[in-house]
Amino acid sequence: MVLERLGSSLYEALRKVFRASVIDEALVKELGRDIQRSLLQSDVNVKLVLEISKRIEDRALNEKLPKGVSRREHLVKVVYEELTHILGEKSALLKIRTGKSNILMLVGIQGSGKTTTSAKLAKYFQKRGLNTALVCTDTYRPGALAQLEQLGKLANVPVYGNPKVKNSIQIALDGLKKFDNYDIIILDTAGRHKNEKSLIKEMRTMEKRVKPREVILVIDGTIGQQAATQAKAFHEATPIGSIFVAKLDGSARGGGALSAVATIGAPIKFIGTGEKIGDMEAFVPSRFVGRLLGMGDLQSLIEKVREAEVEVPEKKLQAFLSGRFTLTDMYEQVKSMRSLGPLRHLLKMVPGLTYKIPDDMMEMAEGHMEKWRIIIESMTPEERENPKIFNSSRVRRVARGSGTSEKEVKELLKQYKTMKKMMKTFRRKGLPLLGKKFPTR
Ligand code: GDP
Ligand code: MG
Repeated sequence: MVLERLGSSLYEALRKVFRASVIDEALVKELGRDIQRSLLQSDVNVKLVLEISKRIEDRALNEKLPKGVSRREHLVKVVYEELTHILGEKSALLKIRTGKSNILMLVGIQGSGKTTTSAKLAKYFQKRGLNTALVCTDTYRPGALAQLEQLGKLANVPVYGNPKVKNSIQIALDGLKKFDNYDIIILDTAGRHKNEKSLIKEMRTMEKRVKPREVILVIDGTIGQQAATQAKAFHEATPIGSIFVAKLDGSARGGGALSAVATIGAPIKFIGTGEKIGDMEAFVPSRFVGRLLGMGDLQSLIEKVREAEVEVPEKKLQAFLSGRFTLTDMYEQVKSMRSLGPLRHLLKMVPGLTYKIPDDMMEMAEGHMEKWRIIIESMTPEERENPKIFNSSRVRRVARGSGTSEKEVKELLKQYKTMKKMMKTFRRKGLPLLGKKFPTR
């Protein structure tokens, strides 16, 4: 999907930064142009694109470098911050007040995905232990109630609607009364064309009467730059609290959503990633930008790198990342990892590796540290450097020499092999964007 393509082109742009031997004005300018191109290709609003690239250039060239931060790191940080900025800085999950009904009112034009999204949100909250109910106030579209009822069943939440009543505000108020003791009540509203005056008026009245905790604008992520105009029109009618960008699964023009946010200043809190009611994700800007750039939470990563730099001698990291990985390295690594929470977390943040970092293996390694030390000390230097040469007689000798069992020695060798394999994965995937201090190739 487009967001991934955007991600990979931004990632390519940043890779240049890490390959370059010096970070000078020409390079910053080139990066600015690359970023412009990436964003424009994803249909991000031109004005916004120019603003961002200009700010990146300005800051990269003029800001004073914080102590201990290289120009390279600073540049990445600036890119990260500017991209995060346009997406809304706050990690913006919905604020739910307990002991009170939280009314969420969904608005948006017809077909944007409101009804589907209502059910998705209902399921999302229900699953998190909040009593949730749905109200269908769409009195225009035939079958609207039936659609919501069907989705409500899937989400396992009750649905209120009344086909006999034509006044949507009346239905909303009745629904609120009916679900008085619920934690969350989601109002699915009718959406027609954005310019339809009666829709806007109805929306405004409803907002006044039901006083929602939050008005959520549902935007179709496939409509590109129109998202901005649409968001503005709705925002003028009632202040939009947050945005749900639907249909980002198949989208070719997801960048439009970025523009929408920048236009009205409301954060994206969730995204829809498919037609099923489980297909949604909470949206955390920093994580999203990180993902765009082809990695995990970049901000934390940068911080962790710094923390890690203080504690891990570069040589150790080199061993970690270089092709050579011996039993001595393993011992050193396990030892430093134990004292090094940060590095362990750091590695967890590299996407694609997350699921592969065997926590239990790490724990096991830590539990066996002392024994491993004794076993490794009973080996010859040759064996430590080149564990391949181990055969059963060597295993027997080391077991005897260290006062352990052959089984334990074999276990250590097995763990070593697993770790070595893991190191290979790191090398292949690289630790992208960590700069020249952490060469990955
Ligand atoms: P409404 O008119 O705003 O209530 O929109 P609906 O909820 O009826 O959705 C319109 C269409 O968009 C339906 O076919 C939905 O299945 C589809 N849809 C909604 N959200 C998503 C999404 O996140 N991904 C995909 N692929 N389709 C979606
Ligand atoms: Mg609908």
